[in-house]
Amino acid sequence: MAKIKPPKQRKFGKGALRCLRCGTHEAIIRKYGLMLCRRCFREVAEQLGFKKYY
Ligand SMILES: [Zn+2]
Repeated sequence: MAKIKPPKQRKFGKGALRCLRCGTHEAIIRKYGLMLCRRCFREVAEQLGFKKYY
């Protein structure tokens, strides 16, 4: 188990969304229909070519 800090309870639109990759509710990015948290998005973004983000 990795170190997990309790995510801030924030709702994005209709209910809290989950990251498709790690399941966190933290900072989910729905842009481009990715539905990933910012951490996973960063990793995926590099693969997709979104290197200008973060
Ligand atoms: Zn994630």
